[in-house]
Amino acid sequence: MVPLLPIPINNCNILQNALVEQRQTNREVLNDLLRRALHPLTCKPYPSSESRYYSVLCADGNFRRWNPVVLALLADCTEYTNLDHLEWHVGSWCECQKTELGDYVHTNKPHSRRDHNLYRTLSDANAKGSNAELLSRDVHRGFNVFQHILSTVNDLPKPHHLHTMQIGMLDHLQKWIFHILKTHERHNKYSAIWLSVPAYHDLIPTKKSYTEVSQWNGKEMGEMSRYWDGVVIQSLRGGSHAQRSIINHAIECPQGLLEFYMYVRYESHNDATLSYMEDAMRRFHNFKNVFILGRAGKKAKAKAKALRRELVKKRKVHKETKADSWTASKKWCEMNAWQDYISHKMDIPKELDADFNFPKIHLISDWAELICRYGALQQYLAERHEQPHNTNPKDGWNASNHNLNYLPQVITFQRHIQCFEIRELNHKALTQH
Ligand SMILES: [Zn+2]
Repeated sequence: MVPLLPIPINNCNILQNALVEQRQTNREVLNDLLRRALHPLTCKPYPSSESRYYSVLCADGNFRRWNPVVLALLADCTEYTNLDHLEWHVGSWCECQKTELGDYVHTNKPHSRRDHNLYRTLSDANAKGSNAELLSRDVHRGFNVFQHILSTVNDLPKPHHLHTMQIGMLDHLQKWIFHILKTHERHNKYSAIWLSVPAYHDLIPTKKSYTEVSQWNGKEMGEMSRYWDGVVIQSLRGGSHAQRSIINHAIECPQGLLEFYMYVRYESHNDATLSYMEDAMRRFHNFKNVFILGRAGKKAKAKAKALRRELVKKRKVHKETKADSWTASKKWCEMNAWQDYISHKMDIPKELDADFNFPKIHLISDWAELICRYGALQQYLAERHEQPHNTNPKDGWNASNHNLNYLPQVITFQRHIQCFEIRELNHKALTQH
């Protein structure tokens, strides 16, 4: 059902002050649609023991009493938050604060689980205190159909590799590694080693370098994870003594995450594998700060650029006033010192404004607990469900002229295809008679 839900229009053309209102409208549309779709499963306020049962004809010819219960939702984390009526960029299983999402969570100190019964009570109360309470737990006030059907709402989002790990965390890691390789001018070496990985047994390495592809898919990420560690180690070989501690951390951190990824793919677990998973996760968190500059957002980068412009002006003034008294070697030393000073100063706003507080990094911290509850993580094939996304909105978008007026074009494109399909069916029916 989830792939059939409406895809809201792109928010990038909406002004900031109208954005909150638009998101609220999107949420209401989504909720209303879900309410209609799930209406047969909705509990009456005081259901009798019989009210939720249906008589269903089974394959053996007998009728059976059937009681449908929603058990799982498979989606990306932003979709989970929409479906669960939560704010964006929060965890769907626990009440972790937004400012702590990037922190390592010790197994003995997990966050409290989301309690949707409490949220429903608070939402129904609609008092000042209860609204503030909902806000502090990053929950939107209002009706949510999942709170009214027979299911445990906080159990519905199920962990899966594709969105959280393969095109989530591994994709982030790839960007961070490339950032650090570029800083240390190793990116060309990395690309060369990457492309030289030979095929071996069932391993088929990619024929494209990192910069040639804008978006890697889950299958490619899974294949890459098998030789990625070796490529990173070889690319970061050598370097000055001062660089070594950074480089060592830049090797340790991906090793931790890749090791974690290998363990979560096991088809069965015991205490030992869970503790190895925990160790790998701890290693990843211990060394992740080496990639903090790769996490700098647009604002931090703009601040750093403004600072650079200011310092370059200062350098120019300094050079013009002192240049006459400098020898060639002195000039070289001074300019080098300025260069180091500027790059050091530019890192400060990036470091101050960057953090690791994004949902996926926290979601994987909960996986050990979820494995204990539900067993080994399943790999789900999403290709079938992704197909309607390609045929419905994506093909139409590609055929449009990509301007602000693209929506009617996407709809017209789809209508044309359907017209042809209907004509084809009519034609077939006519030829049969
Ligand atoms: Zn958590």
